[in-house]
Amino acid sequence: MKSYSQWQEMANSIEFNTNAFINGAFVVAQSGETFSSINPATGEVLAEVASCDSEDAEIAVAVAKQVFESGSWSRKPALERKKTLLKFADLIEQHAETLSLIDTLDMGKPIADCVGFDIPNTIETFRWTAEAIDKVYGEISPTNTNSMALMTHEPIGVVAAIVPWNYPLMMASWKIAPALAAGNSVILKPSEKSPLSALFLATLAKEAGIPDGVFNVLPGFGHTVGKALALHNEVDVITFTGSTKVAGQLMGYAGESNLKRTWLEAGGKSPCIIFADCEDLEAAAFSAAFGIFSNQGEVCIATSRLLIEESIKDKFMGLLVEQAKNFIPGDPLNPDTNMGAIVDQQHLNNIISFIESGVSEGANLLYGGNQTTVDGQGCFVQPTIFTDTQQNMSIVENEIFGPVVAVNTFTTWEEAIQLANDSKYGLAAGIWTDNLKKAHKTARELQAGMVWINNWAGSDSTTPFGGVKQSGNARDKSLHSIDKYTEMKTTWIDLS
Ligand code: NAD
Repeated sequence: MKSYSQWQEMANSIEFNTNAFINGAFVVAQSGETFSSINPATGEVLAEVASCDSEDAEIAVAVAKQVFESGSWSRKPALERKKTLLKFADLIEQHAETLSLIDTLDMGKPIADCVGFDIPNTIETFRWTAEAIDKVYGEISPTNTNSMALMTHEPIGVVAAIVPWNYPLMMASWKIAPALAAGNSVILKPSEKSPLSALFLATLAKEAGIPDGVFNVLPGFGHTVGKALALHNEVDVITFTGSTKVAGQLMGYAGESNLKRTWLEAGGKSPCIIFADCEDLEAAAFSAAFGIFSNQGEVCIATSRLLIEESIKDKFMGLLVEQAKNFIPGDPLNPDTNMGAIVDQQHLNNIISFIESGVSEGANLLYGGNQTTVDGQGCFVQPTIFTDTQQNMSIVENEIFGPVVAVNTFTTWEEAIQLANDSKYGLAAGIWTDNLKKAHKTARELQAGMVWINNWAGSDSTTPFGGVKQSGNARDKSLHSIDKYTEMKTTWIDLS
């Protein structure tokens, strides 16, 4: 890993792709408009980026559809698509440092996280999905002997991937790897808060040999280019990660237009239950702190609600505060930093107003609670712990998407389940206990897409990632993710 000064040196000389990528070429937005991409750790403008809108969406969708119908990618043998995507993964690996630096500069996360997690996960996603795609078989159903019915998977068409800023490249890879592997054309709409790594990725897609028009990138705002894609009648699939509010809007756009398949990975307010029979409370406290303070708490699966059995509250809170002290906001370019900048001033203001509401609604601010700076600049927040919370407090009901945890206690198993499930979200949930029966029984009761027992955030390419309730309707990763980008066709043959 590079040293602090080496990263700083690289940051001073890096150049960005700033134009939209359509049909294999970088082009300015039709309107000529741009928006500023800002480094939240310093306030510095990194680049002026093409601000696409409906005109650009029209062009990109037409190109993506035309190339889909040409068959140059969609009808290519799976083995060939696999080879191209493996080359794509190799190129991402070759440029891992550049991509890491871009995401760190653009959204403020620690460089160590990008190098150690985001980019390796992105590479793994492309490799795993590429390796899987030529092992996806159709089926023959057990009909009567005078007929045969085949069930085959076909690519759908034009997929628009609309993604957030918290893991810019990694979230994009969870969508575009299976969509491309299955043979679709893809239009990626990165967040306006972190557009730069997606535009660098476009160069690598071209170099890997993905045909022009199969992979396009439209930077811009949600209410302009994002909405235009979601309302477009020639877009066949919207695959989305982001807030529950926008997820709902996308369902509306699909209903207003062509009933496009709408796959939603939305927000979370995940509970983690610590039972008194958990033997390794240090491990539970470490995991709970990591779950809410890593990536500045800007994590959909953050451990944002801790439910502690009353009898161990004091002991556990002591351990949790000790763990919180290890998270110190610092310059994201310093490889020793484990807590970077909040993505922008607007989001920082949201987090601070949630903290203020926690105090005014009567929760006990046990630790942190302040905005801070690093070297006198930037958008940073201290790790923050509230205890004595009530279910109707805004810090308990809402996703804060920052380093703020709300702690509550329970005295019975039934109460723990009731508190955990008392949320409109259902992304993830955690359980800490050494009682096997209780662990299974609790997991069965929890309303969540993912349940972690004596760990948090266990995940790899083989397992689905996604939630229930208003946390979404889809699953990224694993073979199940490929289903979202194919249609199943049934073909009956008369053998009589
Ligand atoms: P967001 O919903 O504000 O934006 C997400 C994307 O949608 C951006 O690209 C944005 O430009 C676009 N968008 C906004 N309005 C739109 C519209 N009207 N039409 C079309 N597109 C529109 O979310 P965010 O702030 O970027 O990300 C944070 C959210 O993402 C959190 O709620 C977090 O929980 C969620 N998230 C969920 C998962 C998961 O897997 N469930 C993973 C990561 C993040």
